[in-house]
Amino acid sequence: MSVYVVGHKSPDTDSVTSAIAYAELKKAMGVDAVAVMQGELNPEATMVLEKFGFAAPEIMTDGAGKKLILVDHSDIAQAPDNLDKAEIIEIVDHHKIGDITTSNPIFFCAQPVGCTGTVLKQLFDINDVAIPKNIAGIMLAAILSDTVLFKSPTTTDADKKACDALAKIAGVDDMEALAMEMFKAKSAVEGVPMRDLIFRDYKDFDMNGNKVGCGQLELVDISLVADMRDDLYKELQKVKSEGRHTVLLMLTDIMKEGTDLMVVSDDPSYVEKAYNVKVDGPTVWVDGMMSRKKQTVPPLQKAFGG
Ligand code: MG
Ligand code: MG
Ligand code: MG
Repeated sequence: MSVYVVGHKSPDTDSVTSAIAYAELKKAMGVDAVAVMQGELNPEATMVLEKFGFAAPEIMTDGAGKKLILVDHSDIAQAPDNLDKAEIIEIVDHHKIGDITTSNPIFFCAQPVGCTGTVLKQLFDINDVAIPKNIAGIMLAAILSDTVLFKSPTTTDADKKACDALAKIAGVDDMEALAMEMFKAKSAVEGVPMRDLIFRDYKDFDMNGNKVGCGQLELVDISLVADMRDDLYKELQKVKSEGRHTVLLMLTDIMKEGTDLMVVSDDPSYVEKAYNVKVDGPTVWVDGMMSRKKQTVPPLQKAFGG
């Protein structure tokens, strides 16, 4: 029976490349592993897979009756549907431990590093499996993406070390050039429906019984969305009305290293408390905010009281 390796919903580069890379490692260890993803490739992941010569993994959204390895998440809301009818056999992640539980002991490997790719680099090494050149390329790309070329506060020395080693294996001499190529690809917003932009890199969370969503657009320049703000806000209000207490859209300027935070909420005081800001328009600038995982979600979770 095949084992499906899958990243989170609204797959990002790390979720897709980690599924491919970990499936490769498991295959080398004799497991019939298949990389899948829960939605269409985003523009950055498309560019990365093309560059290193990979086809897009199959889309799989229903976990019922399947053996699963989860990468880059451990939250039920981000996992395949019908998770209670699936068997989770492993989790490899770099986020806070989520709300998934299992009935059997499993291999669970999570580290507080910038990217699942960094954890996987170590798993290849521990298992003494050589990383194929093109696999090293996509793992490198994932780390550069998740750490925003080491600018994100989630970045650790382990990430930089992994990148140096992976770049050598992949034959990439200019990491920064690769990162810029990716950032340009992910900044493509022209002509994309507002809803697709909001859900391009999006996660739902349970905050003390409230459904709270947070999307992020990482842009080389936030003026790229200047003309779209009103339409984005209108669409965000729709997303909020679909059973959520609060929805945030992080318009992150990679170069200015901060986020214009778009807020739609039943009670914006949670957001104000979390980031020590005043929400008196559709967006509020939060200087230095780059990471949803480290800077956006934890303070808000705390403001909601769990
Ligand atoms: Mg991810
Ligand atoms: Mg990740
Ligand atoms: Mg990200």
